[in-house]
Order: sequence, then C-alpha cells, then structure tokens
Amino acid sequence: MKKNCLVAGAGGFIGSHLVKHLKQEGFWVRGVDLKYPEFSSSAADEFVIGDLRDPIVCRKVVSSDLNEIYQLAADMGGAGFVFTGENDADIMHNSALINLNMLEACLKNNVKKIFYSSSACMYPEYNQRDTDNPNCSEQSAYPANPDSEYGWEKLFSERLYLAFSRNYKIDVRIARFHNIFGPEGTWCGGREKAPAAICRKVAEAKNGDIIQIWGDGLQTRSFLYIDECIEGIRRLMESGFPGPVNIGSEEMIAINKLAEMVIGISGKRLKIENIPGPQGVRGRNSDNKLIFEKLGWKPKEPLSLGMKKTYKWVEEQVGKTTAR
Ligand code: NAD
Repeated sequence: MKKNCLVAGAGGFIGSHLVKHLKQEGFWVRGVDLKYPEFSSSAADEFVIGDLRDPIVCRKVVSSDLNEIYQLAADMGGAGFVFTGENDADIMHNSALINLNMLEACLKNNVKKIFYSSSACMYPEYNQRDTDNPNCSEQSAYPANPDSEYGWEKLFSERLYLAFSRNYKIDVRIARFHNIFGPEGTWCGGREKAPAAICRKVAEAKNGDIIQIWGDGLQTRSFLYIDECIEGIRRLMESGFPGPVNIGSEEMIAINKLAEMVIGISGKRLKIENIPGPQGVRGRNSDNKLIFEKLGWKPKEPLSLGMKKTYKWVEEQVGKTTAR
C-alpha cells in the first residue's frame, strides 16, 4: 500500500533531499516549509508554504490520512549563526514552537509515527574538549551541558518527543545528526556550515590567495554526506528502534585538514590563515556503535568523495553568481 507522509522543513537542505528519496521509494509526499527549496524544484506531490510556529498551520498539514511524518523544520545554521549568541532567542523560541505544535497536531489528527531530527550539538561540552578523543556516545548525553542554546532546544525537544511517546503512544524515531553536507545546501549568506563555507572560499580564490579559517584550525569534526544521512533516516524509520541515535561519520578531521583537502580537490595553490571566529566545541566525532548494533548501518563512502561532489556543486554556484 502506498504510504502518505509529511516532510516538515521540505524546503531545506536535508528535507529537500529526503523528499526526492521518498518519492523514489514510492511514497505520496506533502512538503511544508516557509520557502520552496532554493536550488531545485521540490519533488513533493503537494508543497504547502506555511509557518509551523502557527498551530493552525500544523493542524492543517498534519492530516489524519498521513502514515508518517519527518520533522526537520528548525531555525538553524552553521557556527556563524548558532555560536555568536545573536540568534539565541529566535533559535529556541521558533524551533520549540514548531515541535510543540507538530506533536499537538499529531495527537489531534491521530497521526502515530514521527521522525525528529536532533543534533550532535546536544552533547555536553565537557566531553568535547579533547580534539583527539571527544565522547559523543548516546549515553554520554547526561548530565547535560550543551554549548549552545541550539543544543539545549534539541535536548528539550528530544525529551518532548519521548514524553509524547510514553504518555500518548506516538511512535517516535530520534536521530542526532553530525554535520550533514552535500550539494544543494546553504553555501553563503551566514547560515552555511564549514564544508560549504570552505568550498565557497576555495572556489572564489585565485592561485596564490589566502583563505581564512575560523579558530586555530585544530578543532576537529566529522562530516556525513547527505545520501548516507537519508539512508540512515530511512533505516531508523523502518526499524523498531526509537533512538535517540547518532547518524554521522566516524572519520574525524581537523578543520585546517578539511580546508587542505578542498584545496587539493580544487587543484589551486592557496594558503590558509587562521583567524578568530565562532567555533563551538574543540572536538566532535560521531560514535556509531549503537546505530551499527541496532540497524547494521555505517557510512559507505570516505569524506573525500563527498567533498569532491560538494566542491563541484559549490564551484558551479560561485560561477553562476560571478557571471551575473
Ligand atoms: P535547513 O535550514 O536547510 O532546513 C530547515 C528548514 O526549516 C528550512 O528550509 C527552513 O525554512 C524551515 N523552517 C524554519 N522555520 C520554519 C517555520 N517556522 N515553519 C516552517 N518551516 C520552517 O537545515 P537542514 O540542514 O536541512 O537541517 C534539517 C534538520 O536537521 C534541522 O532540524 C536541523 O537542526 C537538523 N540538523 C542538521 C544538521 C546538519 O548538519 N545539516 C546537523 C544536526 C541537526
């Protein structure tokens, strides 16, 4: 039987890729977002432009004929958006409202299955001070001490989904994403994340130029290519395991090394200058023991392959804007 689903945040990076994938799998898909996808037309059967902070919009899009919901809508961005402190009130207020409204709408319209996209940003800062050995295993989440309000909202919402699961028998799936990247993601404007920002800086530079990297460049992260993330989401949704569970890569890399990787891909001769800037925790890496044990899932491709595809796409975008 054909399944009906709703993707909230369908105009965003992960949401727009997920819609494409769900369509290929044969789902009927409704998307909802404040905006249409920026870099391609949506594959959704129906796309509602709406603000999920409004409970009436939520009740309208969460119709009783849906089999499942993927909740990816959030007020979010990269380090330049999340770690400056300037957007804290909006981040907490807007994303919490979306999650509160979505769950209430599920109850009202009797929709019983929902996926929630949490983030590695909910892990405590005190376990992520060592660049070589951060601890982001699922059970390390408490005592809680995320280093951003974005992380605190994610933690609150994880608990909200689990509470609705306990008290109202809503079947929830919760994933903690670790730095998802790939083509058709935000690459300029202030909300972009490190992989896209580095690709843009390299694509815009000429031989001999210097590109600037925030922090001392020794801070470490891992990055997961979008297609791998979508596979993880779908496996989790099809499983009987609610999570929360990490969906990420264990291929940790220092930010300067990531920049060197992109410079290598571009074939340009560029230098790196480290400058002060928002960075977040010192070290972060996904811990994939639990997801491998529960779902048999792990990423298939090395970081360099995803970065090649992403660089190519960002380079094209830079070319289009400079040609204008
Ligand atoms: P994104 O910003 O591209 O997508 C989020 C979408 O939500 C946007 O299109 C935005 O317009 C929409 N949205 C925001 N407020 C809304 C509102 N009031 N009503 C309707 N739509 C609204 O981000 P993304 O990278 O696709 O992330 C998707 C989800 O995954 C988010 O919840 C994010 O916090 C989480 N996440 C992403 C990453 C990552 O590396 N990309 C990492 C951890 C967690």
